[in-house]
Amino acid sequence: MASGPETAGGVEAVSPLDAAQDQLRVASDFLGLDSGVRALLAQPRREVTVSVPLRHDDGHVSVFVGHRVQHNLDRGPAKGGVRFSPHVNLDEVRALAMWMTWKCALLNIPYGGAKGGVAVDPRQLSLAELERVTRRYTSELVGVIGPERDIPAPDIGTDEQTMAWMVDTISVDRGYTVPGAVTGKPIAIGGSPGRSIATSLGVVQIALAALWDRGIEPRHASAAVQGFGKVGRGVALQLHEAGVKVVAVSDQYGAIHNAAGLDIEAVATHVDLTGSVVDYPGGDPVEGHELLELDVDLLAPCAIEGVLTGANAHQVSAKIIVEGANGPTTPEADTILQDRGITVVPDILANAGGVVVSYFEWVQGNQAYWWTEREVETRLRSHMIGGWELVRAEAQRTSRTFRETATSIAVARVAEAHRVRGLYP
Ligand code: NAD
Repeated sequence: MASGPETAGGVEAVSPLDAAQDQLRVASDFLGLDSGVRALLAQPRREVTVSVPLRHDDGHVSVFVGHRVQHNLDRGPAKGGVRFSPHVNLDEVRALAMWMTWKCALLNIPYGGAKGGVAVDPRQLSLAELERVTRRYTSELVGVIGPERDIPAPDIGTDEQTMAWMVDTISVDRGYTVPGAVTGKPIAIGGSPGRSIATSLGVVQIALAALWDRGIEPRHASAAVQGFGKVGRGVALQLHEAGVKVVAVSDQYGAIHNAAGLDIEAVATHVDLTGSVVDYPGGDPVEGHELLELDVDLLAPCAIEGVLTGANAHQVSAKIIVEGANGPTTPEADTILQDRGITVVPDILANAGGVVVSYFEWVQGNQAYWWTEREVETRLRSHMIGGWELVRAEAQRTSRTFRETATSIAVARVAEAHRVRGLYP
């Protein structure tokens, strides 16, 4: 079984909210922000917690808890994913919402940050039950979400079908179709070409740039990818296509390793057939924590928060870590990795491809004018490489880590938006 946030390295991990607050504190110190602005940025603007009752297929009723947190609205409507996982809790959602604010600001996307989730295990529900949970959760939030207010998207445990049910629920409530209400929708109802692979594409672009930056030619590089869902699977596939030798992949059920390189397309077929990477015949089983410590050039954590901690950062052997997941590295691990000369490309830069193409989807939906997949990809590449160049140059100039640099650029933009808007009343 792979390490989770509660068990990473056998010790209790730092909460994502503590990590997010710590990163904000470091950025605020660097920028010299006053205490009022710090307090504003440390607090979510708005939080909604709702009960999500579900009548199961056999007639019995369960009640789940759902949240939506809008961290900041200074630069535009809130934007952020919806997570269906038994681990969802308000502090996790608060942290993820704050990271969304920084991510949108860093990539200069005109949004604030939000996140939502329901504490439910989607694998325990039938499709009809999932639809009812999604619609009820959406219905409870209709007053605070929408194209000008807060635009949800898929995250852990949700997908384009979830988004289709959400947009339909909002549209039924309003009495007309509202395509800009969510992103990550199916193409048939206004999804953008290229959205489903956008996060992975961005992660891989940044990973390849980071490899070159350290003088490593991608076709001579090796990689390990944690998580084989919407992000991790695409990252593993695209790294493989770029000639990188992917030696290990994992999911919540276990990890597999092959020092000669895994055939990622064959792994993906195995996952489609069995639901997991476990028992893939072309690799040996390894423990989830071992994957994080493999001697590879590139490690891409693409699963959950808090997997690289003070307890295992000393054992990490990768030269570069590119964060496909949100919040996989705790502040303590960050310090250790920095001292050990390991490059960490932070989540708010590395996995921003998803929100960039979500923004494109929202723009296309609002204009009812659709771009080609090629246009989407070209614009995505230019945003990602622009973000990478900005952060790299500024990190070099100020001798700080990529995370400190990226967070402070983002926090400065949000603080400036707040300053010029002023405080009401
Ligand atoms: P997903 O539900 O599609 O996939 C999650 C994957 O992680 C699954 O393969 C699951 O088995 C695996 N996993 C869960 N716990 C694990 C553990 N302890 N060890 C190893 N693997 C584990 O979710 P996703 O959309 O791929 O999201 C993954 C991460 O990327 C999250 O942190 C999410 O917030 C972040 N993210 C997603 C997007 C997006 O567009 N989907 C965009 C930006 C960031």
